[in-house]
Amino acid sequence: MSELTELTIAEAARLLRLHSISATELVTAHVERIDHVDHLVKAFLRFTPELYERQADDADEKLKRGEGGPLTGIPLAVKDVLCVKGVETTAGSQILRGFKPPYTSTAVARLFEAGAVMLGVTNCDEFAMGSSTENSGYFPTHNPWDLDRVPGGSSGGSAAAVAAGEAMISLGTDTGGSIRQPAAVCGVVGMKPTYGRVSRYGLIAFASSLDQIGPFARSVEDAALVLEAMAGHDPLDATCSDRPNDVRRDFDKGVKGMRLGVPYEYTQVEGMERGVKDAIDAAIKTLEQAGAEIVDVKLPHTDYGLAAYYIIAPAECSSNLARFDGVKYGLSVQDVDNITEMYMRTRRQGFGTEVRRRIMLGTYALSSGYYDAYYLKAQKVRTLIKRDFDDAFSKCDAIVSATSPVVAFPIGSRTEDPLSMYLCDVLTLGGNLAGLPGISLPCGTSQGLPVGLQVLAPQWREDVALRVARAYEVASGVKAEVAAVG
Ligand code: GLN
Repeated sequence: MSELTELTIAEAARLLRLHSISATELVTAHVERIDHVDHLVKAFLRFTPELYERQADDADEKLKRGEGGPLTGIPLAVKDVLCVKGVETTAGSQILRGFKPPYTSTAVARLFEAGAVMLGVTNCDEFAMGSSTENSGYFPTHNPWDLDRVPGGSSGGSAAAVAAGEAMISLGTDTGGSIRQPAAVCGVVGMKPTYGRVSRYGLIAFASSLDQIGPFARSVEDAALVLEAMAGHDPLDATCSDRPNDVRRDFDKGVKGMRLGVPYEYTQVEGMERGVKDAIDAAIKTLEQAGAEIVDVKLPHTDYGLAAYYIIAPAECSSNLARFDGVKYGLSVQDVDNITEMYMRTRRQGFGTEVRRRIMLGTYALSSGYYDAYYLKAQKVRTLIKRDFDDAFSKCDAIVSATSPVVAFPIGSRTEDPLSMYLCDVLTLGGNLAGLPGISLPCGTSQGLPVGLQVLAPQWREDVALRVARAYEVASGVKAEVAAVG
């Protein structure tokens, strides 16, 4: 394995600036690594040589002139839900096969401006619905640490690419845990920002009141750098805030004197593996030894969160996915007698089982006569969850817990039982319902597989989540390693 594919941004930026390596060399090393391992990992759906060759040249020009920033020349992979002009973007779905967006999403455009080099598009669960990447309309991605296991989801390709050394950084989206959970089970860092921190312009929507774009990386600092480059006001997304972009404030100040809350309910979730619990207990001890005060907090409505999420997210998706009807984008079944038949056959052929299940559940929850009983009630539960977090944060600065109750599970072991798949999100989706920032970072192993520590902070306090995560990384010495693969 080439050492160039194991660097962090900070290390690579130093070498690039010293002209010890060029951006082209760095990118070539990653392309070679992809050639070597991606037939096993299958993190990528497609590659973008026309982009990475030009962007690497541009980066080298800049570096020669002594210009550019920390992301100049850094190899990036992008989840298949973020539009990139002229690059086939399909949300992991057959229904969008062949769709080439006429514009680039703000998050990606900002990373391009910062000098990142896009290697390709990563696999994901169809329309980001899932926790294992097995719902991809193309093929499953494999966990680089054990190829018989899932990489988590829905941003499984992005997490696996970084874990396998195929990309230095990548982008994912998190609606109920889809950045943090795959980061946890692939042993990398993944961050979901506060709702409204990063523009969603150009993101193929799943559930618009929950979706956020965020980074994967192999260090907390790298995740912070990528987030900082993407964050901030965008007139093209009305929900994107113009608050100061201060996510790296106090980054290295440590946790001395901070109060970290451990929610009782998050330690009691159904199916929590012994080894995961032990790794998290040890991580909390490490934070205490680093000077944090550990306090007990309560999130009493946790159990209802899962039920509320699985009404709200399908309801929003049923509305968002109505636009895929074969008229304007992607697949269009033509041998039909009338337009209604075209809609029906296009959607039946183009959408997979899980997407169809969610559209039906969501349509039902929103339909007249059921709206109050399901959707309205779920929104009320959402308010209660938000209040739980407000109460908890009156007693602590940040919340620490496991990210996923289990390590990566074997491919195929949960596909027959959607409920067992939904349980993967029990510790993450509260953060989406309440709009909070959250990060997952590696904190050891269970059964030889990575375990992730989750840090949740109050809205707009990415700085707090990053500071705690950084403090843990320093105190524990646990680093996101690149998996050998195969
Ligand atoms: N696993 C959750 C779901 O299937 C979360 C997905 C996500 O965050 N995009 O809805």
